[in-house]
Amino acid sequence: MRRFTEDQSIFREAYRRFLEQEIVPNMERWRKAGVIDREAYRKAGEQGFLMIWPDEQYGGMGDTDFRFEQIIIEEIARADVFEFFAPLHSRLVGPYIGKFGNDEQKARFLPRCASGETILAVAMTEPDAGSDLSGMRSTALDMGDHYVLNGAKTYISNGLLADVVVVVAKTDPQNNPHAMALLLVERGMPGFERGRKLEKMGLQAQDTAELFFSNVKVPKTHVLGDPAKGFHYLMQGLAEERLIASVQNLAMAHKAFDITRTFVMERKVFGKPLSAQQNTQFVLADVSADIDMAQVYVDQCVSWLNAGELDAVRAARAKLLSSEILWKMLDLGVQLHGGAGYMLEYPICRLFNDGRVMRILAGTSEVMKLIIGRSLFSDSYEPFLN
Ligand SMILES: Cc1cc2nc3c(=O)[nH]c(=O)nc-3n(C[C@H](O)[C@H](O)[C@H](O)COP(=O)(O)OP(=O)(O)OC[C@H]3O[C@@H](n4cnc5c(N)ncnc54)[C@H](O)[C@@H]3O)c2cc1C
Repeated sequence: MRRFTEDQSIFREAYRRFLEQEIVPNMERWRKAGVIDREAYRKAGEQGFLMIWPDEQYGGMGDTDFRFEQIIIEEIARADVFEFFAPLHSRLVGPYIGKFGNDEQKARFLPRCASGETILAVAMTEPDAGSDLSGMRSTALDMGDHYVLNGAKTYISNGLLADVVVVVAKTDPQNNPHAMALLLVERGMPGFERGRKLEKMGLQAQDTAELFFSNVKVPKTHVLGDPAKGFHYLMQGLAEERLIASVQNLAMAHKAFDITRTFVMERKVFGKPLSAQQNTQFVLADVSADIDMAQVYVDQCVSWLNAGELDAVRAARAKLLSSEILWKMLDLGVQLHGGAGYMLEYPICRLFNDGRVMRILAGTSEVMKLIIGRSLFSDSYEPFLN
């Protein structure tokens, strides 16, 4: 039995209403436009749904319990509006400012992020460097009182909407490929240009873009923490990013399961509902066991995160397991729909397109296996039956 506090249950109800009133009615229009209206962030901010974790002085509620974000992600799935993925802004990018920013940076940026006036993105991936970030070419060179940023980033979520982008770049490319800075690059800084809005397989309303930086003068006030430790900061942030993805994977899997269950009860084949066929019951029983087991593990990871005990390997296990189960559920959902599953007018079809990316985003399944695999042969490995 999952435990949420009374405050969190009230929060869930309120967030559900917000989505129904402000997001669901606009989603088709945003899908056609290929981008969410930035007003959506303003409205979410006004009602206190963005950035819950910062202290009140920075516009938050000062409550770092990850279950608030879990509720937000689950309600996004329930409403089937995955492209309004505000957790990217609130809990994936924002914490880089909260954890590694100084008081001045927090005071300058966080309140506008909490109100939704500023939208955030993070730019790590480059045309030639995704899984292996040490291969990135972007550089931020120290010029005394500022850095000069050069490089290109791609596949950046919120790439067009973002007002502030946390950009990762190497600060000592000749001598140390792991020396990287996290720079706060603001809309309008000379030399910062947006490229194409990329056409995607799914998540049509979420803008994903290329970004270009050409001799961008970034003041030292815009560097988060130690300019050589960005890689280390990213590794810290990635465990939480992978938990966000894991929660999303299972929320999507539950949604796909429910849509499919309803369909097979209504669809008649050979004179009886598809749900009466043993095959249908067996395959859905099988995947429901997978989803249920994974949910318990992911919920445990949420507790570990809240207790400061979620490490990279646990997060990788959750991400790997949940995204592979999501993929199994989506493929099964389409299969049980028959031809209808291939038609965009059926929600399972769009969900299939939206969800395919989850084995790639936030670290691919193969990279998750690398992380887990390495841990199995390290000195810190502890056998279960110790
Ligand atoms: C919709 C979308 C939104 C995104 N949003 C963002 C964002 O906001 N910010 C951002 O920075 N990035 C973002 N990304 C980028 C994403 O994080 C990368 O696509 C992902 O990390 C994979 O990197 P890559 O595309 O360069 O693939 P590659 O790293 O080139 O991988 C290609 C294949 O090689 C495999 N592979 C790689 N290394 C190994 C290995 N050692 N052993 C075995 N197999 C290996 C991979 O698993 C994969 O199957 C987004 C991507 C998408 C599709």
